Amino acid sequence: MNAIRNDFPILKRISHGVPLVYLDNAATTQKPQSVIDAEVEYYTMYNSNVHRAAHELAEEATTLMEDARRKAATLINSEYKTEVIFTRGTTEAINLVASSLTAEVQSGDEILITELEHHSNIVPWQMLCQRTGATLVAVAVTPSGEIDLQDFHNKLNSKTKIFACNHVSNALGTVNPIAALLSDAKAEGATTVVDGAQAILHLDVDVRELDCDFYAFSGHKMYAPTGIGILYGKQGWLEKLPPWQGGGEMIEHVTIAQSSYQRPPYKFEAGTPNIAGAVGLGAAIDYLASIDRAALRVEERQLIHLTISRLKQIPGLRLIGEPEERSAVVSFHIDGSHPHDIGTLLDQQGVAVRTGHHCAMPLMDRLGISGTVRASFSLYSDANDVDRLVQAVEKATTFMPPRG
Ligand code: PMP
Repeated sequence: MNAIRNDFPILKRISHGVPLVYLDNAATTQKPQSVIDAEVEYYTMYNSNVHRAAHELAEEATTLMEDARRKAATLINSEYKTEVIFTRGTTEAINLVASSLTAEVQSGDEILITELEHHSNIVPWQMLCQRTGATLVAVAVTPSGEIDLQDFHNKLNSKTKIFACNHVSNALGTVNPIAALLSDAKAEGATTVVDGAQAILHLDVDVRELDCDFYAFSGHKMYAPTGIGILYGKQGWLEKLPPWQGGGEMIEHVTIAQSSYQRPPYKFEAGTPNIAGAVGLGAAIDYLASIDRAALRVEERQLIHLTISRLKQIPGLRLIGEPEERSAVVSFHIDGSHPHDIGTLLDQQGVAVRTGHHCAMPLMDRLGISGTVRASFSLYSDANDVDRLVQAVEKATTFMPPRG
C-alpha cells in the first residue's frame, strides 16, 4: 500500500497544517507521477497537431494518441479500437450520444433512466425529449439506494427507445445489476447507454460481455488528467449515426454546398483534440496495468466495511443508502447539522470530502434530503485515512451536537 501511495506525490501534501487525507475520489482522483511525467514529456518532446502535418513531431504525436486509443480499447475489451471516441469526459460522451441519436427518436417514444443518475445522465436526455417530443421516464430508487427492480419492469416496455443507466452511483456507491438491466432493456428493443464514470476504476469493465451499445467514462476518475474521456460505441451504431459537431478533423471532403465525413471514430472528433490528455490517459492505463488492481480492490472493499462499521457508532450519524453491492463511496448525514458545515469542519482537520447533492438532485428529492457528506475512496486509500475521517467526524459532532 505504501508503494502505491508513494506513486501519488500530492498525497504527501499538508492541508490546514496536517497531512492531507483525500477522500473526494469520486469527484476526481489524484495522479501518479508517471501520468504527470507523460504530460510533461509530451509537451517537452512531441507537442504538435495530430492527423495532419507531414513532419516527424506530428507523426509521433499521432502515434501517441492512437496508442492511447488502443490502450483504452483494451481496458474495456472493445472489439475494435475504432469503437473508442475521445471526448472531454463522461458528460460530453453522453451529450454526444443523445445528440447523434436525435433522428432515431420520435414523439411517443420513451427514454428510460433512473432516479439514481448523475445530472449528466439526466439533462442530455431531457434535451433530447424536448427536441423530439419523446417522454423521459425514471425508475424509482428504494430507501436503501438501489434501483427498484419492480418499478424498472413496470416502466420498461416496447415504447422504451433508449435505456440509460449508471453502472455505479456517484452519490451512494450503489453497484447496479447492470448486466441484468441491460439484457432486459435489450429484450424490449431499447438502445442501451451506460454511464461508467464511477465504475471504470473500481470494477472490471468488459463492453463485449455487457453487450451495451454505448459506454462512457472520464479519464480523471481513473488517475488520468481532466478534460479527456471515452465514449465506446458499437461499430454498427457509429457507422450509422450522424456526427454531432462539425469542423476540422471529422471531414473527408468539403465544398461550400456540402461535406462528406470521415469514418468513425474521427467522424465524432471535430477540432483539435486534447492530445496531451489522451497521452496522460494512456499513461494512466499503463499505470493501472502495472499495479495489482485485484488485491487493491479487496483492500478498498475492506476499508469501506471498516468505515461503515465505525461511522455507524457515532451518535446522530445516519448512513444514506445501504445498498447490498457497494463501491468506494460512503454517504452520510449528521442529524441536526448541514452537510456543508460538517464538510468545513472536516476540511479544517485536513480531511477532504464532498458535501451537497453530488449532481444528483432527483435522488436527493427521492430520499427527502438536501444533500449528504460523502467520503469516497480510491486504490491508494488506507486505514489511516479511515482513522482520520472517523476522528474528524467525531470532533465535528462535538462542535455540532446532534439535535433530535
Ligand atoms: N456520471 C457519474 C456517475 C459521475 O460520477 C460523474 C462525475 N461526478 C459524471 C457522470 C460526470 O463526469 P465528468 O464531469 O467527468 O464529465
